Amino acid sequence: MKAEILQALRNTKGYVSGQELCEKLGVSRTAVWKGMQKLKEEGYGIEAIPNKGYRLMESPDVLSAEELESIRRTAWAGNTIVYYEVTDSTNIQAKRLAEEGAPHGTLVIAERQEAGRGRRGRAWESAEHEGIFMTILLRPEFEPQKASMLTIVAAMAVTKAIRTMLTVPAEIKWPNDIILNGKKICGILTEMDTEIDAINYVVIGIGINVSNRQFGKEAAEIATSIAIESGMQIHRAELIETVWEWFEVYYDRFCKDGSLEGIQDEYNVWLVNQGKQVRILDPKEPFTGVAKGITKTGELIVETEEGRKQVSSGEVSVRGIYGYV
Ligand code: ATP
Repeated sequence: MKAEILQALRNTKGYVSGQELCEKLGVSRTAVWKGMQKLKEEGYGIEAIPNKGYRLMESPDVLSAEELESIRRTAWAGNTIVYYEVTDSTNIQAKRLAEEGAPHGTLVIAERQEAGRGRRGRAWESAEHEGIFMTILLRPEFEPQKASMLTIVAAMAVTKAIRTMLTVPAEIKWPNDIILNGKKICGILTEMDTEIDAINYVVIGIGINVSNRQFGKEAAEIATSIAIESGMQIHRAELIETVWEWFEVYYDRFCKDGSLEGIQDEYNVWLVNQGKQVRILDPKEPFTGVAKGITKTGELIVETEEGRKQVSSGEVSVRGIYGYV
């Protein structure tokens, strides 16, 4: 009910009368009134004028399923929204939901994570009200070997969303970190369950630092937030919606091409390491070279003294010669 009222308020320029809401939603006046009270309690600024009706003046920065559903513009991403005030990690929950049969496009969101993780099991700082912690569940029909490229697709969506919504120069540190002014504002963790010739499901977890002012010891040197870098306070739900709108665009392109062919050029423009000296922290044999963009299957091309090498993600990290990027 709250989601429908919110949607009706958002879709009306000016005021929407109580009567119209009753008719549209097929409920009583009392039900509409109660819905309005609940929204006000949650921080929505709703003006009520006798004989005119209701008008939405402002929305709080909440991530509830109702808030997200009421601003939804996507075709399938977020068709089912599961929201937690606190959870262990949105990837863990998305994997559990996948095992229970949740559909392609299910979006899991949390206000706080108690066991947020990055690659190789490293902790992801997930403080309440400061960030976005979300995971999408996908059930792709392409071959399992292609699934790891979805990290690149997701990195593109986040970068494009931040660039369009905030007009700040977000960049990508291959393969999966989003960088603003040389520091990390977002990490992406893709996990999957596959068989030899089919994907059961893929979950893509995205953590974005929105209004953090400081970070713990482990992340302090490399992490930053949108608020620190841009001075802007953004509405998190709007950024979430913008990310998934762009994800649909890039995902469709990826599925149509069967590769990153239609994404590669834009990715390479935003690649923070492009043309720069990088150190490849390969657990077997670290090496240095100049980053030359990605292939259409997502490997990083690195020019070394011994010739060109193609690095696939997996266990590898990239660093700049003098610092993080
Ligand atoms: P790299 O390859 O550069 O090490 P990664 O992609 O492997 O990065 P992730 O798995 O995305 O790293 O994230 C884990 C790391 O990110 C942790 O080691 C920690 O230093 C850092 N980190 C943890 N929380 C945050 C945060 N909220 N913002 C930015 N960085 C964070």
